[in-house]
Amino acid sequence: MAFDPIRERTAERRADLLLSELQITDPVDIDIEAIAMTRSALVIDGGLSGAEARLTRSPKISFIRVNAGIREPGRRRFAIAHELGHLLLQEYSQFALCTDKDLVPFYTNSPDELEASVFAGALLMPAKMFEPLCRTATPSLGYVAQQAERFQVTITAAAMRYIQFCPHRCCLVASTGGKIRYHRKTDDFGYFIAPRENLSPATYAADFFKGERLPAKMQEVKATAWLEGKRIDSSKMIWEESIAMPSYDSVLTLLWIDKDIDRYVTGEDEYDAEQQESDRGWSWNRYGKKRT
Ligand SMILES: [Zn+2]
Repeated sequence: MAFDPIRERTAERRADLLLSELQITDPVDIDIEAIAMTRSALVIDGGLSGAEARLTRSPKISFIRVNAGIREPGRRRFAIAHELGHLLLQEYSQFALCTDKDLVPFYTNSPDELEASVFAGALLMPAKMFEPLCRTATPSLGYVAQQAERFQVTITAAAMRYIQFCPHRCCLVASTGGKIRYHRKTDDFGYFIAPRENLSPATYAADFFKGERLPAKMQEVKATAWLEGKRIDSSKMIWEESIAMPSYDSVLTLLWIDKDIDRYVTGEDEYDAEQQESDRGWSWNRYGKKRT
C-alpha cells in the first residue's frame, strides 16, 4: 500500500474542518456517533456479518452499520469514523462495505479505503491534540498504547498516527506470517527496509513467529537485522520494540535509530554511488542525519 499524499492531505483537512465546525478541542468530546449524526448518518450496531462496517448513503439520512461482534471500543470507533470518511470524501459512492482488513492500512491497496482510514485517524486523533504528545524524549510503543487509551482507538491506529508526528528517526513496520508487509518511516529515517522480505532471525519480531514471547520495551538489535545498505556498519545497533497482534498473525514494530550507524571509509573509491545518492540533501547534526 502507499498513501497518495494529496488525498491524505485532503482527508486530514476534511477531518480538521469537521472538528472545528463542531468546536471540539478535547479528546473526550470526540463522540463519534454524535459527530456522525451531525452529518445525518445514523450508527446502528448489528445486522451485518462477514464485514466490519457498511455505509449506505441516501439524500436524507445515511446509515452506518457496524458488526455487533466488535468488542474493542477503539475498533468500533475507528470503523464508524472510517465509514464517515467514505461518506464525506467519496460522494461518488452510494455504498461502502468494509472488511476488517479494509480498515487496517497495511492490508489494503484501495485508495478509497486508505483515504477513509486517514480521515478516521485524523478525526479520532486530531493533529492539534495528538502531535504535541508525540514530542517525548524517547519513542516507545508502550507510550503509544497509553495514547491509544486516551483517544479510545486501537494501538495500530495510534501507532499509524504516531509515526506521522514522531520527532525521532523512527520506522513503523508491520509483519505478517514472518514477512515484512508494510512500513512507514519518519522523513529523516534515512535507510531502506525491504518490503515482502522474510524477517531476519536476528529481529525480535521474528521471535513472535517462532511462538516466543516478545519483550515489553525497546531492545537493542543489530542495525543490519532490519536495514539495508552497504554503508551501514555491521557492528552498530538500533532499537526495536515489537508487539504481537495475534488476531492478524502479525507483529507491529517500532524501530529507532538514535546514533550514527554508518561506517566511515577514507578514499574516494569507497564512496560509492549508493552512498552518494542517499547522502544527497542530508547533513549530519547531533541527532544523526537531518535534511538540509
Ligand atoms: Zn472502507
